[in-house]
Amino acid sequence: MIIGAIEAGGTKFICGIIDSNGNILEKINFPTETPEITLTKVINFFQNKNISAIGLGCFGPIDLNPSSENYGCITTTPKLSWRNFNILNYLKKYFQIPIIFDTDVNGAALGESLWGAGKNLKNCVYLTIGTGIGGGALVEGNLVHGLLHPEMGHMFIKVHPEDNFEGICPYHKNCLEGLASGPAIEKRWNTKAYNLPADHKAWELEAYYLAQGIVNLILCLSPEKIILGGGVMKQEHLFPLIRKEVTKILNNYVSTKTILENIDDYIVYPQLKDNAGLLGAAALVLKNPL
Ligand code: ADP
Ligand code: ZN
Repeated sequence: MIIGAIEAGGTKFICGIIDSNGNILEKINFPTETPEITLTKVINFFQNKNISAIGLGCFGPIDLNPSSENYGCITTTPKLSWRNFNILNYLKKYFQIPIIFDTDVNGAALGESLWGAGKNLKNCVYLTIGTGIGGGALVEGNLVHGLLHPEMGHMFIKVHPEDNFEGICPYHKNCLEGLASGPAIEKRWNTKAYNLPADHKAWELEAYYLAQGIVNLILCLSPEKIILGGGVMKQEHLFPLIRKEVTKILNNYVSTKTILENIDDYIVYPQLKDNAGLLGAAALVLKNPL
């Protein structure tokens, strides 16, 4: 089967043509502008590509409840031109093939479980730390939707006693995203995150926060793998700091070899690297029988 995959991000869109083995046959990306400008590019890209279905992994929050009147909408996003925009219905007008709609991070969790770091696992979490923080979860082989969909980035965590930064989440100020997203790091230290040297105390603080979020996920969902993607995680030196902090917080309580002996293989970078979101969108089609 030839699949059309869309990773609809708040900063950029990536579209691809993917086969059922996860091979990327063609790929383009462009910045996210207004819905009309952006989706015209999407529609043009897929013309005459012979795709049988589209997987749409979308930034959120989104309405994923098929019985809701707003099913297919991007809801309370700070990106005003996209707020309450029904991306699914818009695309359905142009494509007479199934479109499978989910969060970008649920897609990425699924893609990693099919072809990447979570291969053969039924339980894994994918967390992206970028412009925002978002997470998707595969639990017993199924993606978690529930009431809305997981909003892992907005977890509440303990503020470091020496951190006076108030946080930037427009809803909660100092939730995980408010303290540890890329823009939060940049506002706290007044420079681009990639300019901060590896020994800067920004990274210790970042690991302190991310580790708390990860521990909560371990305790709530019992994932077999935690995959950390997004721009901020390009700082590879963060991984050992996070693993150390997670081990410290858990304090031998979750007494499994995976954590006590193999944590380097438990908290990892996406094996699909920058294609995790795009391949994840394709994986959504494979997971949902047409
Ligand atoms: P998005 O979340 O918009 O899809 P990214 O995952 O690339 O996009 O995240 C962008 C954020 O990550 C920005 O705040 C940026 O400063 C930060 N970022 C991007 N690259 C790096 C890097 N190499 N090191 C640290 N931070 C980075
Ligand atoms: Zn928040």
